[in-house]
Amino acid sequence: MGRIKKGIQCSVKGCDRPAIRSISYVDFSNSKLSLEIESLGNRVYLCREHYKEYKKATKKLRKIDKWRWV
Ligand SMILES: [Zn+2]
Repeated sequence: MGRIKKGIQCSVKGCDRPAIRSISYVDFSNSKLSLEIESLGNRVYLCREHYKEYKKATKKLRKIDKWRWV
């Protein structure tokens, strides 16, 4: 997690923006994002826009989890 090397592109197919974050593939699939990614092993690199989408998706999941337990 965290900082990544410069010059790495977003792993989302069709997106050629520079990646700002890397997450594990497991985290990515847990977020249930309907994005197609290029397979690069067990890391997923996300640009600012797609990272935002990822954060939004995980926030939603957390909310659902909370509801389930209330
Ligand atoms: Zn992207």
